[in-house]
Amino acid sequence: MVLEPCIGECPQGALKIVERVAEDFDEKAVEEYLKELEQKEKGEENRTENLPCGCPSAEIKTFTKANSSCESANIPSEITESALGHWPVQIRLIPVNASFLKDADILVTADCVPVAYPSFHSDFIKNRIVMLGCPKFDDTDSYVEKFTEIFRTAGIKSVTVLIMEVPCCSGLPGILKRAMDMAKVNIPMKQIVISSSGKIVLNLGATS
Ligand code: SF4
Repeated sequence: MVLEPCIGECPQGALKIVERVAEDFDEKAVEEYLKELEQKEKGEENRTENLPCGCPSAEIKTFTKANSSCESANIPSEITESALGHWPVQIRLIPVNASFLKDADILVTADCVPVAYPSFHSDFIKNRIVMLGCPKFDDTDSYVEKFTEIFRTAGIKSVTVLIMEVPCCSGLPGILKRAMDMAKVNIPMKQIVISSSGKIVLNLGATS
């Protein structure tokens, strides 16, 4: 079938050619706009420089915890206030020399745990540095390498490792043990296993 151009021939009168007066092209205004855009982009670049991946989500931050105003209101703080005291939290994004790792108690947790376990903040995060990852989908060799360097240099005081009860998660404590062996340190390690229904099914206490 050959399609005829419709303009001017639509039996319903749906298509019309409308002539309008357009403003003259303003070259100066375009130049100013492009300049403004360029400056904005430069500002974004400066904010993310020196980050491991250039990604704003990797920007190093520590948070000062204000006294909870919820206490006076009799509202349990674990429901209303985050216990997290630093950023980033992904193992891949935390530099081995991050200041918050110095002499820290670290919580190495599988990605699925915070979703499954309902009281994650109140039970585990307080006074610990959170390091989050997945032993199934992430590059475990790079994890061993990173933890080896952290264990060798940061003076880590204790490790709490949280995993899910599914088999794919069981490799995480092994990664940490290998890193300790390679760093030639023996840091007390506690291992906790969470069920998919959000219950603690195993708590191995501190081993060193
Ligand atoms: S290994 Fe499996 S259970 Fe563990 S964080 Fe990865 S996907 Fe979740």
